Amino acid sequence: MKIRRLLIANRGEIAVRIIRACQELGITACAVYADADATALHVRLADEAYHLGPTAPAESYLSIPRLLAVAKEANVDAIHPGYGFLAENADFAAAVAKARWRWVGPPAAIIRRLGSKTAARKLAQAVKIPMVPGATTPVRSIPTAGKLAETIGYPVLLKAVAGGGGKGMRIVRTAPELSRAFDLAQGEARNAFGNGDLYLEKYIDAPHHIEVQILADHHGHIIHLGERECSVQRRHQKLIEETPSPFLTENTRRAICRAALRLMKAARYRNAGTVEFLVDHQQRFYFLEVNTRIQVEHPITELVTGIDLICEQLRISAGEPLRWSQRGIHNSGHAIECRICAEDPAQNFIPTPGFVTDFMAPHGHGIRIDCGIVAGSTIPMEYDPLVGKLCTWGATREVARAKMVRALQELRISGTITNVHFHLNALQHPLFLKGNYSTQFVERERASLLTAPIPNASHAVIVAAIAKALHQTDPTHAASAAPHPSAWKISARQQGVQHGMEFF
Ligand code: ADP
Repeated sequence: MKIRRLLIANRGEIAVRIIRACQELGITACAVYADADATALHVRLADEAYHLGPTAPAESYLSIPRLLAVAKEANVDAIHPGYGFLAENADFAAAVAKARWRWVGPPAAIIRRLGSKTAARKLAQAVKIPMVPGATTPVRSIPTAGKLAETIGYPVLLKAVAGGGGKGMRIVRTAPELSRAFDLAQGEARNAFGNGDLYLEKYIDAPHHIEVQILADHHGHIIHLGERECSVQRRHQKLIEETPSPFLTENTRRAICRAALRLMKAARYRNAGTVEFLVDHQQRFYFLEVNTRIQVEHPITELVTGIDLICEQLRISAGEPLRWSQRGIHNSGHAIECRICAEDPAQNFIPTPGFVTDFMAPHGHGIRIDCGIVAGSTIPMEYDPLVGKLCTWGATREVARAKMVRALQELRISGTITNVHFHLNALQHPLFLKGNYSTQFVERERASLLTAPIPNASHAVIVAAIAKALHQTDPTHAASAAPHPSAWKISARQQGVQHGMEFF
């Protein structure tokens, strides 16, 4: 059945991404928005936009009744949930199917089975995929957790069964720390997911986070599109991703992709999904979890495969067969993604919502930017601080990396602090250059990653600023010393200084 009208149950850059795919496929893109997003970019770009409710996520982007009511009002025939919010909510997927709309994702039963980390671990165990030693059922009391921790050996990691975004996760290094960590993790899991169930697994020291992109249709065809390395993280959340992984050997790459396919075949998976693994320094890999949705970092896979994953998701939901066999997939070159967030790396990455006074995107060969903001946008404090994703592609890793450094230097966001200079430091760090960094990279290299940026981006602006200063004391001198800075540059520089920005 062809999709004619699609409701995008999300906001920000992923809503923009899906709107663009709809418009390319001739599908009417219906956006939704909360009060704070009334003038947001996704609302402006959509073909139609529907008000959901107040800014609070619970009353808007997380409200199943509101979204269903709006889907009815908009007379859509499919719903794309994006990522985050209700993207992995099986009840929402089931309600959408019951109302006879297409859900752009796997069926509710698959989300339910793979969304529970313990249920997913059971399935991985059944198909003989290596797993981090630990529980395959929830651990309901501190004494039970203590016994299991003694068996597998400290350090261990307490994790939320319903987990996501690194929430409800606590490292426990010694037995006396266990009971406090258990209470804290349980409280955090209850707050974040409305479910305080925990389980426990061995804490792997400084692993790599490697994940495999899967596509599966409703006709029994399933393929993988290679792996992504996502080990640059803060608070167990990704900041930089690249593909292919500079760390994996060819043997490990083949084995991990085969394992991911085996698991998703066993789950009878449909649509786009990702199987996540941890890989230790000896290249031993362990199943971590499955994400039953499109991932933030999907563009880097698109760049190396040439496949538009959002368009494929929509085609699969419409019942079309996959257009590639595994043999038809040829990854070429190297791609890197930097997540651009309104957050302050120097203040433990706290979000820095605010008003974007100026914005200039980088351009050029091999540069892609997926963004939810423009100059004049407000970044609300109620939502995720991710405002965009800067991706580069190059024939080799070094070309992609050099393009990223150049693109980050060209990117201008004024009005609020962002993590752009953190990315510049990371991309030029010796460990990143070597391609030899683990999930402990940010923690261990904190000092060098968080240092103030060298303002090499804009020599011209510095010269202009000096000229301006000279002009104020001696206008005749300034005219000969350097060209006048444009009004834009002066205003951007003032904004930068005023808001402690990184780039001037
Ligand atoms: P979430 O679903 O909350 O994102 P994941 O299970 O995907 O949680 O793990 C997120 C990150 O936490 C991983 O990429 C890794 O950095 C870290 N992590 C998770 N499990 C372990 C483990 N057993 N040992 C070491 N690090 C882990």
